[in-house]
Amino acid sequence: MSYIPPVSLGLPWYPAASHGGQFASPPPRQIVIHSCECPLTAGIAKSLAGPNWFGGTAAGTSPHGMFDQTGGVEEVHTDTIAWHCGNGNNTSVGYEHAGYAAFTRAEWTTDAGLAMLHASAKTTAKVAKALGIPGRWLSVAEVADNVQGFCTHNDMRLARGGTTHTDPGPNFPYDLYMQYVTAAMTGGSTTPPQQGDVLDMDAKELSDLIDQRLKVALGNDYAGAPLQKVVAAGPPSSRAASKVRDMAGGTGGLAGHALTQGEKLQALLDHFEIKLP
Ligand SMILES: [Zn+2]
Repeated sequence: MSYIPPVSLGLPWYPAASHGGQFASPPPRQIVIHSCECPLTAGIAKSLAGPNWFGGTAAGTSPHGMFDQTGGVEEVHTDTIAWHCGNGNNTSVGYEHAGYAAFTRAEWTTDAGLAMLHASAKTTAKVAKALGIPGRWLSVAEVADNVQGFCTHNDMRLARGGTTHTDPGPNFPYDLYMQYVTAAMTGGSTTPPQQGDVLDMDAKELSDLIDQRLKVALGNDYAGAPLQKVVAAGPPSSRAASKVRDMAGGTGGLAGHALTQGEKLQALLDHFEIKLP
């Protein structure tokens, strides 16, 4: 066993009453995203961290921290096991977000929601960097295999069990969140590049990025998804839907058409309005 010192997060410290002992070696490998099933209101993270919930014996559970639009609080240090995702507790750190698993994307991406996601991503990027966790979104199979990366409470439920929660729900904007995390980890900006930069991207980077977006759009069934399914998962008004149909040689003709890899990648980029880093 080796001791992994806590990552210094610079957040107000509100110790949770319930938690486990220190992580053994290896250090935590997943960063788990939760929704707290509470309203997205200013100050609720501090309020729930108090003696009436996580700070006292009422909750019986604990996140490593929680965020709302005014910022975040730390409740369990990253060297200590929190009780947030059943059988996944021993390999992960978990952060709560004000909001509900039933939220629509529009509800997650209000000004308040985006402020919360930015604050959270800034913190989880810090944790990821310190623990050597890459800024990538995991499939359920990868979570089961204890691969390093980001996932949801629901992914932990599916991969490891010992918990019944399905948060933060299918409409949590993972794509935006991971953009913020990546930007914070690299110290870069999220400014979209000029047209044409696609061609300058390393093929591996491009393929990783598309993989990540497909996982976000299709859930963990994305692997091997036919192009029709990819198109169906995107916004119905997407210009790319008709573009893909055009390339396939007419309406409804996708099934038999083999797009070149380049056509497919470009269609996917357009379809999901992917802003390249
Ligand atoms: Zn949860």
